[in-house]
Amino acid sequence: MSDSLNIDVAIVGGGIAGLWLLSHLRARGYGALLIEGRHLGQGQTIASQGLIYGSGSYTLARMGAETDRAADGLMETWRRCLAGSGEVDLSGVRQLSQCQYLWMPKLRSSWLDRLIHPFKRKPVVKMPPGIDCPALLSQLGVEGNVYQLDEPVLDVASLLQVFAERQREAIVLHQSSVVLSSDGAITLRMPERNPVTIRPHWCVFTAGVENAALVWAPVKIRSVHMIMVRSKHLPDNLYAHCLSDGAIPRLTITSHRAADGSVIWYLGGRLAEEGNRRHFSQHLREARQELARLLPKADLKDAQFTALRIRRVEGPRTEGNRPDKPGISQNGKVIAAWPGSLTMVPMLAEAVVQRLERSGLQPGAVTLEPLADWPRPEVASYPWDNEHLVWQ
Ligand SMILES: Cc1cc2nc3c(=O)[nH]c(=O)nc-3n(C[C@H](O)[C@H](O)[C@H](O)COP(=O)(O)OP(=O)(O)OC[C@H]3O[C@@H](n4cnc5c(N)ncnc54)[C@H](O)[C@@H]3O)c2cc1C
Repeated sequence: MSDSLNIDVAIVGGGIAGLWLLSHLRARGYGALLIEGRHLGQGQTIASQGLIYGSGSYTLARMGAETDRAADGLMETWRRCLAGSGEVDLSGVRQLSQCQYLWMPKLRSSWLDRLIHPFKRKPVVKMPPGIDCPALLSQLGVEGNVYQLDEPVLDVASLLQVFAERQREAIVLHQSSVVLSSDGAITLRMPERNPVTIRPHWCVFTAGVENAALVWAPVKIRSVHMIMVRSKHLPDNLYAHCLSDGAIPRLTITSHRAADGSVIWYLGGRLAEEGNRRHFSQHLREARQELARLLPKADLKDAQFTALRIRRVEGPRTEGNRPDKPGISQNGKVIAAWPGSLTMVPMLAEAVVQRLERSGLQPGAVTLEPLADWPRPEVASYPWDNEHLVWQ
């Protein structure tokens, strides 16, 4: 016979969406518990590039002014939280960079014209002021004007770790994927433990791609084929987008350190989206050629490449063909929630909390004491530290 625990909200899935929501709910006095079936952030969060997008990035994606204002508000929320003065305390999260660079490769026709007037019906956008090419980029062979966006890049493992530590009491491990029973209860199981039945008033699934198993939730999944480059001779501080004449950058590069100390360049953008159609070796060849085209002076002699296929859950698409709001869907007292990007997570958490408040949910007197010695999930490892990868 299992013990039983009544709580206000059960959150299923400990990526950035579930962790932020947990923090937000508990700050408002709700008795919330997050249940993770593997490692925290295992799925999209740990595989993300850690870029927080503000209105600069959205301007480049040519979205409307309303989106710019929302993006500025979100960026402000992130900044306050990272400084330790926001609704969620993220002081202690490592920022890989305070800014991101943008550059446009040399094109035969006027690139500025193409950038600003790709489609006549779209509003003309104001570009951020350009700067002289920073030494970092010119050493890699980039020429001409470069744009600097004051938008941070986060070390996502440290982001997950901060939540894991600050919310430890309210995060538990379950032996596999959580399944909701027909009466809305969740039976928490781990080997050599008596099961505990959790009876929440509400259940929120922040289960990433597994939200697609909830047939009533309109979850859209897109696959990308990310590239990782490992070398001792690459700079470890490049965070940059090479723009294309479309909404998605031709290439987005972030820099990381693997557990063995080597530098990793993680490549996303159009290369990773179109790479979805390419086989492994073909994709690695294309990535090498693209890097040589766009960063002709990058020293790739001893560089090893590998690729990772990963599924990404999109937010609902609106104007500009780019998601500008998170996804929420409800069926009775079960909510499915997905942010679409790291950036949108604060907006998602606020929207879920408002929905719960509108339903009349009041913070209850909940104790998590019976779970005090229950196992806790670890933070997931970065994809480049996976020992089964094949590097070529
Ligand atoms: C390659 C890539 C790069 C990206 N780069 C950026 C970027 O630079 N900037 C940006 O803003 N966004 C980026 N994103 C998007 C961003 O990473 C995601 O939108 C965000 O991380 C989604 O977080 P999540 O918590 O919803 O899902 P996830 O991070 O996928 O977390 C889901 C969690 O739920 C757990 N889980 C799943 N099912 C169950 C179950 N049944 N029971 C228990 N636990 C379960 C999983 O183990 C996992 O821990 C990127 C995404 C990808 C894939």
